[in-house]
Amino acid sequence: MNHYTEEQQAFQQTIRDFFEREINPHIDEWEKARIFPAHRVFKRCGELGMLGVSYDERYGGAGLDYSWTAAYVEAMSESCLCNGIPMAIMVQTDMCTPALHDFGSEELKQRWLRPSITGEAVGAIGVSEPAAGSDVFAIQTAARRDGDFYVINGRKIFITNGTQADYVTTLVKTAPDQGYHGFSLIVVPTDTPGFQVANKLEKVGNHSSDTAELVFEDVRVPVGNRIGEEGMGFIYQMQQFQKERMVASLGSTAAAQSMLRKTVQYVKERKVFGKPLALKQHVQFTLAELQTEIEMLRQLNYHCVRKIVAGEDSTRETSMSKLAAGRLARKVADWCMQFHGGYGYMDEYYVSRYWRDSRLLSIGGGADEVMLQIIAKLEGYADV
Ligand SMILES: Cc1cc2nc3c(=O)[nH]c(=O)nc-3n(C[C@H](O)[C@H](O)[C@H](O)COP(=O)(O)OP(=O)(O)OC[C@H]3O[C@@H](n4cnc5c(N)ncnc54)[C@H](O)[C@@H]3O)c2cc1C
Repeated sequence: MNHYTEEQQAFQQTIRDFFEREINPHIDEWEKARIFPAHRVFKRCGELGMLGVSYDERYGGAGLDYSWTAAYVEAMSESCLCNGIPMAIMVQTDMCTPALHDFGSEELKQRWLRPSITGEAVGAIGVSEPAAGSDVFAIQTAARRDGDFYVINGRKIFITNGTQADYVTTLVKTAPDQGYHGFSLIVVPTDTPGFQVANKLEKVGNHSSDTAELVFEDVRVPVGNRIGEEGMGFIYQMQQFQKERMVASLGSTAAAQSMLRKTVQYVKERKVFGKPLALKQHVQFTLAELQTEIEMLRQLNYHCVRKIVAGEDSTRETSMSKLAAGRLARKVADWCMQFHGGYGYMDEYYVSRYWRDSRLLSIGGGADEVMLQIIAKLEGYADV
C-alpha cells in the first residue's frame, strides 16, 4: 500500500523526473566544483511548486498539509544522486523560512518569503557559531538597537548556501540579560554593508553544497527585518528546528532506501567465487535486516507526519526519528560500501558519495546526543 494519494504520487513523479533529467546529469561537475548553481536550480524548483508546498497561497505557496512536504522531500531525496542539493533545498523550505512564514510581518513575508517560494531568492539559516553549535544558548552574535535599526556584530559558521544566499535568517542576542527571552531572529540581506563571507569551507562530503563562515561587522538592518516579537527568537528557532529535523529524517530514510536498492542490484550482478554475491546468506540477511530498520523508521516518520498534520506536538517522536535516521544512515552507508568492495571505495561509484554525505546527519541540525538529551528530558529521566 502506498502511503501517498494518487495526486501526491503524481507530484512525486514530477520531482523524480526533474532530478533525473535536470539535476543528476550535472552532479559530478557540481561536486567537483564544490558548489551548485543555487539560483538556477531553485528557480526551477519554484516553477515545479517544490518550495512552498505547505506555505500560505498568499505568498505563492500551495497551502497543502504537511504530508505534501513529506511527499516532496522523499521523492527528492530518493532520486537525487547526492545529499548536498536536497540539503540546500531543504534549508530553503524548512530551515530558514518556517519562522518567517509563521511569525514574520506581512511586509517581510512579501519581501523575502514570496521570492523564497518562487525560487528567485536563496536563503540561509545562521545559528551556529565558532564557539556555539549544540549549545544554541551560548551564541554571541549580538544586535544592538539604534533607533529604527539593529546593528549586528558577530560570526556564524558552517552556514549552508552561505556563499550564494540573498539573505540569512540570523539568530542574535538582543538582550543578553533576559535568558531564553533575550534572542531575536532577524532577516539579514547579504548585500548589507558589513556583511561578509569570510570563508568558503571545505568538507568531507556534501560537496556540491557550499558552506560558509559569515562575519557581521556593524551590519545595520531595519527593525522591520525582525521576525515576530523581540526576545522570541530562541523559542521560534526551537520550533523551526522541529521542521529541520523532520525533513532531515524523511530525506535520510528515503536516501537510505535508494542506496539499499542500488546495493541489491549490485550484489545480484557482482560475481564472487563464481556466483552472484546475492546468493550468500550473509549478504541476504544483512540486507534484510537493514530493510527492516528502514521500514521501521519510515513508519515512525509517517507517525510524526500524521501528528503534524493533526496539529499535535511531535517533538518527542521527531527527535527519535532524527536520532534513528542519523544512526541508520551510518549503518546503511557502511554495509553498502562493504558489499561494493573496492569499487565502492572509488569516487566514481555512488556509494562512496553516499558514505561521505550521510555522515553529516548525526552531527548537523542537532547531534545525536542533543536528540538523546531532548528525549531523556521529555521522558522525565532526570526527574528524581
Ligand atoms: C555541512 C554542515 C552544514 C551545516 N549547516 C548549517 C546551517 O546552515 N546553519 C547553521 O546554523 N548551522 C549549520 N551547521 C552546524 C551544525 O548544526 C552544527 O555542526 C551542530 O549543531 C553541532 O554543533 P558543533 O559543530 O558546534 O558541535 P559541538 O556543539 O561542539 O558538539 C561536538 C559533539 O559533542 C557531542 N555533544 C553535543 N552535545 C552533547 C551533549 N549534550 N551530551 C553529550 N555529547 C554532546 C556531539 O557528539 C557533538 O557532535 C552545519 C554543519 C555542517 C557540518
